[in-house]
Amino acid sequence: MNLHEYQSKEILAAHGIKVPVGFTATTPDEAVEAAKKVKEKNGLDLYVVKAMVHSGGRGKAGGVTFPKSLVGVEEEANKMLGMTLVTNQTGPEGKLVRKILVTEQVYLEGPEEAHEIYISILLDRKTGRNVIIYSPEGGMDIEEVAEKHPEKLYTEHIDPAVGVTGFQARNIAFNLNLKGQGYKDMVKFVHNLYAAYIACDASLVEINPLLKTSHNEILAVDAKISIDDNALVRHPELEVLRDVYEEDPAEIAAGEHHMSFVKLTGNVGCMVNGAGLAMATMDAIKLSGGEPANFLDVGGGANAQRVEAGLRIILKDPNVKLVFINIFGGIVRCDRVAGGVVEAYKNLGEIEVPLVVRLQGTNAELGAELIRKSGLKVHAVTNIEEATAKIKEMV
Ligand code: GDP
Ligand code: MN
Repeated sequence: MNLHEYQSKEILAAHGIKVPVGFTATTPDEAVEAAKKVKEKNGLDLYVVKAMVHSGGRGKAGGVTFPKSLVGVEEEANKMLGMTLVTNQTGPEGKLVRKILVTEQVYLEGPEEAHEIYISILLDRKTGRNVIIYSPEGGMDIEEVAEKHPEKLYTEHIDPAVGVTGFQARNIAFNLNLKGQGYKDMVKFVHNLYAAYIACDASLVEINPLLKTSHNEILAVDAKISIDDNALVRHPELEVLRDVYEEDPAEIAAGEHHMSFVKLTGNVGCMVNGAGLAMATMDAIKLSGGEPANFLDVGGGANAQRVEAGLRIILKDPNVKLVFINIFGGIVRCDRVAGGVVEAYKNLGEIEVPLVVRLQGTNAELGAELIRKSGLKVHAVTNIEEATAKIKEMV
């Protein structure tokens, strides 16, 4: 689950990390109020207005602007709220901006030059350890730095039993060419960022840019936190931060029925019980010349309601030209599942798309017979060869 920038910054601030003062708004009036509060804090008439969508690359796409008056903030809010922001990460359909963040301007004149840093923490699966990735070349696409200047990308692997050591934090500050207060701030920042990452069971925290200000302070100007979905059960305080508008509607619907769903781009929808069977089924579809349209695991209790909910989700995808239901009846009996399919089919009304149903396991024959007798446009089979042959013929 991804968090918005303003949510991520609140978490970072709670862990002692400095972030620019800012407030969110959903209307231009609220934006002006937010700007007034910002002005109260620093006395300047300089603001940053940022689109709150789950995407990076907003700067280049017009989702980050810098008005220099309250009227300017109102104008920017008018423009930005309700607009569809298309970035290099959103796809061509873009994302609707429902909320903006108004913050103080922190790129100011001062005794030193300001400098943008890149830093992130994520799990390195190869070593099985969390890794801090950082670079003095912040602000721009980190992929570009990795490609063109790999020598400017540093990593620090963290021992899970020890956490970030003092030496590692100092090494990071040193490699980033920081001195004086900036160096001290950075050492604290690294410890705090790692603590935040661990505390919320994040799979990623990324700060780009982290700003060394002209007054040699370390400030998180942008922030992205992704939470490990498997850890959400122990974080009700984070679960409430979910923004359903930013997520795929099909994945949300599946989640409500406790099914795992991943949308893919193919033409054969598939519904399966068990993740391993789902993987094998997707292979079978590919070998039959089709392309899986989704991964859908209805889980252990494949009852009528679940089958119906799953079918509804799959059939919403206009690319689906055929649905393959592949159920192994272990705990569930195949005749029950077949009953569910027939019932779901009737409840769903006009289904244009043909269904291939393979039921295997307890009462498989009974299940197949139930489907054949129903007179519906459903092809009932009991083994995988028959199923793939049928799919081949139809795709
Ligand atoms: P992203 O493009 O979605 O990653 O959004 P960011 O929050 O990173 O903002 C994009 C860029 O705007 C940053 O790389 C900064 O260079 C710039 N930026 C962000 N905040 C400020 C600010 O307070 N003042 C100025 N001048 N630039 C800023
Ligand atoms: Mn950024």
